[in-house]
Amino acid sequence: MDVRNIVVVGAGQMGSGIAQVCAQSGYHVVLHDINEDIVERGINSIHRLLTRAVEKGRITDIEKDGTLNRLTTSTDIGRAHDADLVIEAVIENLDVKKELFQQLDQVVAAHTILATNTSSLPITEIAAVTNRPGKVIGMHFMNPVPVMKLVEIIRAIQTDEETYLKIESVAKELNKTSVTVNDFPGFVANRILMPMINEAIYTVYEGVASPEDVDTVMKLGMNHPMGPLTLADFIGLDTCLYIMEVLYEGFGDSKYRPCPLLRQYVQAGWYGKKTGKGFYTYT
Ligand code: NAD
Repeated sequence: MDVRNIVVVGAGQMGSGIAQVCAQSGYHVVLHDINEDIVERGINSIHRLLTRAVEKGRITDIEKDGTLNRLTTSTDIGRAHDADLVIEAVIENLDVKKELFQQLDQVVAAHTILATNTSSLPITEIAAVTNRPGKVIGMHFMNPVPVMKLVEIIRAIQTDEETYLKIESVAKELNKTSVTVNDFPGFVANRILMPMINEAIYTVYEGVASPEDVDTVMKLGMNHPMGPLTLADFIGLDTCLYIMEVLYEGFGDSKYRPCPLLRQYVQAGWYGKKTGKGFYTYT
């Protein structure tokens, strides 16, 4: 069965971006989260981005309205019943994701594919809590989703070929370039990116340089479009810490030890841009 209806679970920065690109590509999308306020915030952010895209002449008013018409919201997970594909984008926490996948497995139809946007967690372990492990797969979008071209498709050890081919074709429909990787901690993107961010945080922690100077070195010296600490603030420091923990535990190698300063910022609730404070302050 072709994918027509998509439910995106989690209306945070990633979930709302994923819902937007899916609706822009012609899919019918339900954006789900735990309460109305969060879902509304997600929809408002999509609205804002589409309005800006119209102003910049990248899309027409008709395309904007069409996209919004294909988007609905929900706080009732039962709405996933009609989905051909569920894309999960809730917080980066294995227990939360496993519980959600067990729940989704009961609610959705037999043919429904369950994809997770996890940045680092074992898809194989998430698939194993369901009665459809062959239909579970990783679909790792990059932030911000409407802008970034890449989707890392992660095959769990159980993922069947039909599921993989369908997800590859959905990624194409979304106008993304996909790279297929196997299910090991951090996959490719975060196995390389996060240790670099963690090292940048160590550089600040050890007093080698200020956040601004670390970012300037990497921007002007390495031609990175954004410094690693600005990027960490954009990703969310809570997410960065969780990914470092996954790498540290998954490989059992001390080179992945999360920097104590990262841990302390997260303990303080300084998660970066989404909370207004991280390595920088946001108003
Ligand atoms: P976020 O904190 O902005 O959003 C997470 C959302 O999940 C929140 O709105 C929260 O209310 C919701 N949520 C939590 N538990 C839920 C549940 N049981 N049911 C429904 N909704 C629930 O986080 P984010 O940055 O959007 O990250 C989401 C996922 O995407 C994580 O797995 C993260 O690792 C991954 N990811 C993040 C980035 C990034 O740059 N931030 C990039 C790629 C992938």
